[in-house]
Order: sequence, then structure tokens, then C-alpha cells
Amino acid sequence: MSNYKLVCLIVCFILGFIPSSDVLSKENVTLQLKWKHQFQFAGFYAAQKEGYFAEEGLDVTINPVNMKQSTSESVLKGEAQYGISDSSIVLSRLKGSPLVILAAIFQHSPLVLITPKSSDILNPLELKGKRVMYQRNIDDAVILGMFTELNITDDNHTHVPHTFSDDELLAGNVDAMSAYITDQPYYLQEKGVPVTIFSPSSYGIDFYGDMIFVTEQYLEENKEQVLAFRRASLKGWNYALKHQEEMVDWIIEQYKPNKSRDHLLYEARLTARMIQPELIELGYFSENRVLRIADTYKQLEMAPKDAQLEGINYSSYLNGNKQTKHWLQLSIAISIIIFLLVLLLWVLNQRLKARVHQRTRELKEANQSLERYFDILDQYVITCSTSEKGIIQSASQALCDLTGYTQQELIGNSYKMLRHPDDRSYIKLIKSVQKGQVWIGDIQLNSKNGQSLWIQNKVEPHVENGELVGFTMVSIDINDKKRVEALSITDGLTGLFNRRHFDEVIEAEYQRLRRTQNKISLIMIDVDDFKAYNDTYGHVKGDETLQAIAQVIGNEVSRPADLAVRYGGEEFAVILPDTDYEGTYKIAQRILNKVSALNIAHAGSTTTGNISISVGAINITAADITNTFSLIDRADKSLYEAKSKGRNCIVMSQNPT
Ligand code: GH3
Ligand code: MG
Ligand code: MG
Repeated sequence: MSNYKLVCLIVCFILGFIPSSDVLSKENVTLQLKWKHQFQFAGFYAAQKEGYFAEEGLDVTINPVNMKQSTSESVLKGEAQYGISDSSIVLSRLKGSPLVILAAIFQHSPLVLITPKSSDILNPLELKGKRVMYQRNIDDAVILGMFTELNITDDNHTHVPHTFSDDELLAGNVDAMSAYITDQPYYLQEKGVPVTIFSPSSYGIDFYGDMIFVTEQYLEENKEQVLAFRRASLKGWNYALKHQEEMVDWIIEQYKPNKSRDHLLYEARLTARMIQPELIELGYFSENRVLRIADTYKQLEMAPKDAQLEGINYSSYLNGNKQTKHWLQLSIAISIIIFLLVLLLWVLNQRLKARVHQRTRELKEANQSLERYFDILDQYVITCSTSEKGIIQSASQALCDLTGYTQQELIGNSYKMLRHPDDRSYIKLIKSVQKGQVWIGDIQLNSKNGQSLWIQNKVEPHVENGELVGFTMVSIDINDKKRVEALSITDGLTGLFNRRHFDEVIEAEYQRLRRTQNKISLIMIDVDDFKAYNDTYGHVKGDETLQAIAQVIGNEVSRPADLAVRYGGEEFAVILPDTDYEGTYKIAQRILNKVSALNIAHAGSTTTGNISISVGAINITAADITNTFSLIDRADKSLYEAKSKGRNCIVMSQNPT
């Protein structure tokens, strides 16, 4: 498995363990209603009926009103987790109960004041002096607020405690009474008593109606659940308002309310008007409006003037939660990034270690190979290095094997110790490398036991910072080549150079001659009456004689530039570059005499009775001839002349200067 795949796997593993905030366990909760089952709570029934609560992981029990205690009390005691109440929640909060509004379902309070149309009361101000039935507690605070707003005091009307009997109005026991707009007007109209409705909202007292609330502590401890409850409830309300008849039937079937289907439908219509879903987002409540409600309570002296509302809005808890969640998510993300970075570094480190290990192994192998190469080089490559003064600093075993010296004998000595006395290239070599140029050429060395050795040498100067610091020499043993070369230009019988070499040298000398004003001499030698000698003494004897004559000629030609060759069967030639007439003649003379001095008997000789030679020589400049052929021809002619003159003599033509 590659390292990257491993990292991916680990990351997936870690991410799999990060808890999803969406995952909630199913929980049982109770919703405490503020009244009996009726359309007023249709949204919550719909949430249950349509499975919205279940979708959010909630199993909700919906309890109708408990006449013995308010919903706030039920919720504060923990008998229910969620409660429905009106704006009295605001008052409770002002008085210090830790209740929090989750959502406002009824945008307006359904609590109104009704009076029979027959009473001719057209506005609340006309209630002065009348009997009005309402509660002087928080339940009817909105009515009290309206009275305060309209300056209807205890002095100018008669308060009748509420009996909750609609018949009081029918019986004329009271002139007006507080009522639920969604309820009593229907009842009275059904009885044929049309009513006039005074809504406090028309007189500046606009309280919220039903609101969902929880305790502060419950919210703090179950934020996700509370939000889920809110979402499901609002979804339920949305459904209920769109399917009013269906919900009415459902309520009748499920809860068997003490109301007719028509009554419930009437309630549904009025409820929708209280909620106004088309104008205001379901559940929305304004903090400013809550503040105004609080002011009303304070004006009614129901709450202390300095009471605070802080904390009544559920969203203030969620912001903090969101922030905490945000920070939590951020720190998880940072932790993951740090972990991944550390993981990445670890993986990279492992890879680096593996690479270092591999490179070390490769280097070791390379070193071993290199050592083997060095061994091979040392054994088979003739090489040495010297200082700039030619002092040997290192020498290969191959050089030692070639020359017979040990490394100890060579190192520290001058390279000159290897130089052969006949070597002529050394000077050229030194001149070239001292100019910083590479020199390649053949050099003749001297072995420890005085043997001549030929090498082809490549000498490379070392220059550091513009200064010559030494040389490296790499050489090839060319002794065999030199031997083959020598054989190819040597006459097998006499040991002199052969005709092939003569042809090359004479051509080269002629070309050189053309570039100078110098003279060249060519001596041609032919053994006299040699056919007869062979005939008389046999070929073997003839060969021995030819060898003896060749030795004489070779001995007389001693300058390095001079060349003695066996030109043909019993003919010899000598090339003497840059030689004058006298010098040439002297050599010819000496050869003639020394051959004669051999005293080789020749019975068939036409001259002295001994072996003799005829010599034709020329000493000329380039101007005297046109090519090598004419040069040889001129010498041949001289030889012919010598034969003609009776043999055993020299004919030498001189360049007429
Ligand atoms: P001349 O004085 O006119 O030169 O007479 P010559 O007999 O030397 O003349 P020619 O050139 O006719 O004869 C040369 C002879 O040299 C012929 C041949 O038998 C002999 N000869 C040539 N090459 C060799 C050789 O390698 N060995 C021997 N033994 N004899 C050779
Ligand atoms: Mg001849
Ligand atoms: Mg001859």
C-alpha cells in the first residue's frame, strides 16, 4: 500500500469518529397546553400526525390544560418540558422566572372584550359606568392594559369577576365581558346574539397570543432538541393552517372536544387571522414588541419598574451555542490539520529515510564498482601523474609492469628517468604541455633493464586558477605495433630498410627539398657481375655476400636523417638529406673501398677478381629535378655510367650551381 493511500485511510478513519451534530437520539418530551384540545393547538397535533416530531427524533406527549396550575408552573416544575402560554410569559420573566420564548404562534392576543350589539356600545370609552366582567390578573392583562390606555379606571366602571359563563352576557348580568375571539363570539352568534368586539390591539395594546416556551436550564442543556421541537412545531402549524378541515376532523376524532365541527372550523379561521402566516414568518417574534409588552406590565404595576427581560429570547442562547460550536468545529478542524501535517511529515520522513538508505546502498555499490574499476585501471591502464616539474606523484601498476620499476622507485623521481636516449619526441612534448596544451604522440621509454619501450602517450596538463600544477599521462603500449611497423619497412635478408620505405622517404624528402634551398644526395649501388657470382658460388653464398655488403653500407650511414635501403635484388640506395657534394662522395668512396676490403673472391669478376660494386651518385637541389622519378633517374644514370666505365668505380654528377 502506498503512503498516500495509508494517509487517506487514516483520515477517513478519524473523520468517521467525529460525531455528527445531526444525530440525535429519540427522546420523550411533554408539551403542556394552556387550554383544552381544540384548533388553538392544531399545529402541534399536525406535527405529531404528519410525523414531524418523529423525524426530529422526538416522541411528544401533548397534555391539555391542568386546571390546578398554570403551564409556566408545569414547565418550571419539570412536569412538562415545553409549554404554551400567552404574553404572561413576559410577566413571569419580569418576575424572575427563568422562562424563554421559543416561538410566537399567535401574532396577536385573541383576548377581546365583547358586548351585545343591542347594548349600543360602540367603543370601549362607552363602558364607563357599565358592568364589565373580566379577570384582574395576568390572564386579562391585555384588557387591563387597554383600560389604562383609555383611562378607564375603577371609578368609572364596575368590575365583575369572571364566571367563565357566556350566559352572563345573554342574561344581561353584565354589559361586557372578556372573551376569546376564536371562541365566545361564535357561541353567542349561534344563540342569535350578535356582538360587538373591542380588540385591545386596536387601542395600542398588542400582546402576543400563544407562544412556545421552555425553561432556561432546559434550553441550555438540550439546545439541539429544543431547536428540533421548534422546527417540527412550526412545520406542523404550516400544515395545519393549510389543511384546516382535515385538522378539525382529526381533532374531533382524536380528542373528542366539546365543540361542534362548525365551531372548530370557525376557530380555525379566526386562529389563522391571529397567526397571519402570509404576512409574518411562522414563529417569529420581535424583541422590541416583547419590550413594549413588558412596559405595559410595568405600567399596570404588575412588574417592578426595574425588572429586566434579558434572556427571554431563545436565539440569544443559540448564538453563544453557535459560537461555541463554531469554535469547537474550528478546533477540531485545526486538530485534524495538525494531525494530518504531523502524519504527512512522518510519512515524508519515513520516505526520506528509505531514500537515504537506498542512496547509501547505491553509493556503497557504486564505490565498490568504482574500486573495481580503479583496480582494473591500475592493472591495465598505463598512467601516471606528475608535478608541474615532472616529479612522479602516482603511477599505475600497469606502468610498473611495463617498465620493471616499482611504484616506490618511480614516485618522487623525475619522469626523465624513463626517457630513452634515442627519444626525440620528449622536447616537443615538454614544449606543448608547458603551454597548457594536450600532447599526443609516440614516445620511446627505457625500461629498468635498459630495454627500449614504445608507448603512445597522451599528456594532459592540470591547470588550477590559471596556474599549471601538474600533468597526467595515459599511455598505450605500442611496442608490438612498432615492431610490425619496423618489419614492414625492413628488408628481410639484409636488415636494411626496404624499397617500400625508400619510396616513402624519397617522396617526403623531395617535398621537403622543394620548400628549402638545401641539397639532397642519392647514392645508387649495384654489385658487379653478381649473376656470375651466383652461378659460380650458388645462391646461398650469394645471399651471404649481399648481407656482408649491406652491413658495410649500413655502417657508413650513421646520421639519423640518412637512410640506407636494399633497393632491389643486388642493388642498394642511400639517401643523404642536406649533404654537400664532398660529404656524399666521401661516403660513396668509403662504401666502395670497404666492400672491396671485404676481399670476397669472385672468380667471374670482370674487375678485380673480388666482389666489387659500382656507385652512381647525385647531389642536387629541387630546382634540378621535376619529381622523385627524375631524382632516381638521375642517380640511375650515374650508376649506368659507372658500369660503362668498367665497374668498381664511382660516377657522381653534381648539380651545376
Ligand atoms: P652487372 O655487373 O652488369 O651488374 O652484372 P650482373 O650480373 O650483376 O647483372 P644482372 O643485373 O643481370 O644480374 C643480377 C643478378 O643478381 C641476378 C640474380 O641472380 C642476382 N640476384 C638478384 N637478387 C639476388 C638475391 O637476393 N640473392 C642472390 N643470391 N642473388 C641475387
Ligand atoms: Mg643489378
Ligand atoms: Mg649487378
